[in-house]
Amino acid sequence: MEDYIVSARKYRPMNFDSVVGQRALTTTLKNAIATGKLAHAYLFCGPRGVGKTTCARIFARTINCQHLTPDGEACGQCESCQAFSEQRSYNIHELDAASNNSVEDIRTLIEQVRIPPQIGQYKVFIIDEVHMLSTAAFNAFLKTLEEPPHHAIFILATTEKHKILPTILSRCQIYDFNRMNVNDTVDHLKYVAEKEGIEAEVEALNVIAQKADGGMRDALSIFDQVVSFTGGHVTYQRVIENLNVLDYEYYFRITDLLLGNKVPEAMLLLNEILNKGFDGHHFITGLASHMRDLMVSRDASTLPLLEVSDSVRARYSEQAQRCDIKFLYRAIKVCNDCDLNYRASKNKRLLVELTLIQVAQLTTDDADAWCGRSPKKTLKPIFNQQVAPAQQTGATVAQAPQTTVPVTPVPTQQATPTNSPTSTPPATERPSALFNKQQMKKESTVPTFKREKLSVSIRQPQKSENLQPQPEIVKTTALEKTEEDFPVTESNIRYCWNEFANQLPIEENATAGRMKNMRPKLLNDTTFEVVVDNELVNKKMQSMASKIVQHMRTQLHNSKIEMTVRIMAPNEAKRAYGIVEQYQIMSTKNPVLQKFKETFNLELN
Ligand SMILES: [Zn+2]
Repeated sequence: MEDYIVSARKYRPMNFDSVVGQRALTTTLKNAIATGKLAHAYLFCGPRGVGKTTCARIFARTINCQHLTPDGEACGQCESCQAFSEQRSYNIHELDAASNNSVEDIRTLIEQVRIPPQIGQYKVFIIDEVHMLSTAAFNAFLKTLEEPPHHAIFILATTEKHKILPTILSRCQIYDFNRMNVNDTVDHLKYVAEKEGIEAEVEALNVIAQKADGGMRDALSIFDQVVSFTGGHVTYQRVIENLNVLDYEYYFRITDLLLGNKVPEAMLLLNEILNKGFDGHHFITGLASHMRDLMVSRDASTLPLLEVSDSVRARYSEQAQRCDIKFLYRAIKVCNDCDLNYRASKNKRLLVELTLIQVAQLTTDDADAWCGRSPKKTLKPIFNQQVAPAQQTGATVAQAPQTTVPVTPVPTQQATPTNSPTSTPPATERPSALFNKQQMKKESTVPTFKREKLSVSIRQPQKSENLQPQPEIVKTTALEKTEEDFPVTESNIRYCWNEFANQLPIEENATAGRMKNMRPKLLNDTTFEVVVDNELVNKKMQSMASKIVQHMRTQLHNSKIEMTVRIMAPNEAKRAYGIVEQYQIMSTKNPVLQKFKETFNLELN
């Protein structure tokens, strides 16, 4: 059987020109060699698999070559180059500091440094993962790095530059390697596939490149894996099955559904995705990226940020044309919020579903998706919508806004004609709805605008008793309902609470700090309680209560949220402290703790 060589090794670049995606850097190195301006120590930094070690080897080979080519590359013919190719050169020494990080290992290396090269001019010492050296080893090495013999050149490579001691950094010329972009990776994979005689769809290679996330070595090993699974026919379908990647087709489909406010279908599609074994979190971050990709495809200037193959690019721009830019901004925000809250959520699936409803809601002022006063009723109208839209909607306009039946659906903000067919209003109501549609077109679609309208409408809900087809009134009803009745959880309350504290102006810093030390508690479905230390804080909180409540109502889409403030009972103090409060109190006393937490990216659970 033929020896199998993995692609990452087989297609390892042998000269600077064939290094993928690091053009600026390789040119600089080549120039330095050509002009003879060599440093004694280099530090190559960058993510894994982007060519640090490869460049170090090419560098070693090139500076020792006896007949450099006119464009500054190693000739590949001379004695030194041959020795390098056959891996028998004594002019290159590699130490993997991840596994050889003791003082002894460094001492052995230093021994080697003293001996001058027999062929060629330079001995190159490559220390990979140099940040893994022990402190003692670092110190032992420092002396040599300060005064190396003129024939010695050190190339230190690391994925974690911040872990390198400043004393080392200051003695090195530093080169930062970039992550490989998707297009460069795809091009290289194409080249490898061609050489190997493998059929590969560009979209398939794109998925591989994205999965590799900027690392060429990873990309090539994924490629090898896929080739062996697919028997040499690398198709998009086989690759996504193999790599457990969610088909972008789903994102296009779900976006279409959301744009059409087809919540039930979106729920079913989500169900299908989850049944395929995909994680809800994975899905929602993917959806956020999809929305982001749509956003960048709307504008020619941001189009280069879209890292997909040409055929998919056309689909992105087609779907992007149908999306309002504000819809995209807000959809990204909603998906991102879901991403942030995902870990803390007790009912993750519901959180994802809620997010989809919210995104669907962005395209429409239709109250259907939001109405109902309790969680149970919230969902009911969505699924009834298709069955009997006419009867339900017909009844609503005639009633007070507090009813739980859906009101007349108001057409979308975008006024896209392709909207949900189920949102057609009953014949008798059509004039008002149509008028309304025109109104809506003229009006701003910014969410805050709607919310301002909401606060007005709360004060005059009775107006909707009026049966005359006045658009303003119908809309008021719809908008009021729009913002109602999302279930409130304690964690959401706390999230918004902190959010509010963070938004306070700088002169309110003390209050913000105090607020963050409090832990609002949910007393019933909508009322939360804040316990404060003393009368002074009590007064302060009371004075801010209405603003806080308004913030909560808007953010959590529940107009019933209330806040109560209570002064802490003397015996209560100790009990109220959980881990989070303990941390907060400790960190106000000792700010270093906060720094410690941030530096190590710690989380309190
Ligand atoms: Zn040569």
